Amino acid sequence: MSATANVTKIDFYELLSVSRDASDGELKTAYRKLAMQYHPDRNPNNPEAEEKFKACSEAYQVLSDPEKRAAYDRYGHAAFTGGGPGAGGPFGGGGFSGNPQDLGDIFGDLFGEMFSGGASGGGRRASRAQRGRDVRYDLTLEFEEAVFGKEKEITVRRLDTCGECKGTGAAKGKSPIPCTQCGGRGQQRFQQGFFSVARTCSVCQGTGTLIVDPCQVCKGEARVQGEHKIHVKVPAGVEQDTRIRYGGEGEAGKFGGPAGDLYVVLNVKAHEFFERDGDDLHCVLPISFPQAALGTEVDIQTMEGLESIKVPEGTQSGREFKLRGKGVPHLNERGKGDLVVEVRVETPSKMTKQQRDLMRQLAETMTVNNAPHSRGLFEKVKEIFS
Ligand SMILES: [Zn+2]
Ligand SMILES: [Zn+2]
Repeated sequence: MSATANVTKIDFYELLSVSRDASDGELKTAYRKLAMQYHPDRNPNNPEAEEKFKACSEAYQVLSDPEKRAAYDRYGHAAFTGGGPGAGGPFGGGGFSGNPQDLGDIFGDLFGEMFSGGASGGGRRASRAQRGRDVRYDLTLEFEEAVFGKEKEITVRRLDTCGECKGTGAAKGKSPIPCTQCGGRGQQRFQQGFFSVARTCSVCQGTGTLIVDPCQVCKGEARVQGEHKIHVKVPAGVEQDTRIRYGGEGEAGKFGGPAGDLYVVLNVKAHEFFERDGDDLHCVLPISFPQAALGTEVDIQTMEGLESIKVPEGTQSGREFKLRGKGVPHLNERGKGDLVVEVRVETPSKMTKQQRDLMRQLAETMTVNNAPHSRGLFEKVKEIFS
């Protein structure tokens, strides 16, 4: 810090936008707000913010210390310049900038709970505990199994807590030791110009501990691959991609962390006769031309046995008949969807000579009045040209 630089230095109280008689609490609040705003982690590659951050930090460090604050109030910036003996205050010679650890402690104090996820009292070590990952199991069902529900036993491969070391990762009789790199703090401090920045320790990944004698079975991983039988209860009415969650049946957690969840994801096979639309079922019923013309009663296979459908005289191809409640049960609800039967009139092919003669005779007797669609069109055309 040179004397010339100090000439342009802004007043510390002004910097923090507080009055000269601000309380410790007011100072802290003011600094916290500014430091959050200008913190280098939030303003990467922004030298202006870095300058502001440094200046505010310096101001706070001085004003939050009663002795330094008294000296500053009396001598101003000159209290910390380390200038000539006459000008030098009680902290001359770099009393402020000489010890970056001081600032680190302010950081621990101010940002501890914000940046380390709730660690208290300066303890900033990341927990070793790790939640197990969720596991997905794809289960293929027959169409009917999805409609009516099904109980199945599945075998899930997943990581389980190592039985040998009971999940510690350390060999029998050995415990993890404090990390030699960070001394068990879980974080390393780096000097970045004027202030120090804490980073997660790269050796222990922030856990603060090291396993020197790893368990032979899990190689220190605390978990081993295992197989588990799970009884799956598929409820009636599930469909393609329905997910059934089994809490805690996923991978085991690490070092005391909770287990993940198991998701059974359903794949439902197609049906040769029925198509699903939500909880409604659709199917196509082919009938002959005489059946459509004269009317008929047809037995149709539903999911729950035969049902009779009355096809009235003069039924057109494409007409739909709805059988209420003959569809798929609503999932986790009362009631069922409908079965929609679409009639399709088939034009005869490969007729015998007799059938052809009869068809010809029939054709000769047909008029436009026999055909509802043609009649409608015929009348429209008549209207237009009359
Ligand atoms: Zn083990
Ligand atoms: Zn470490």
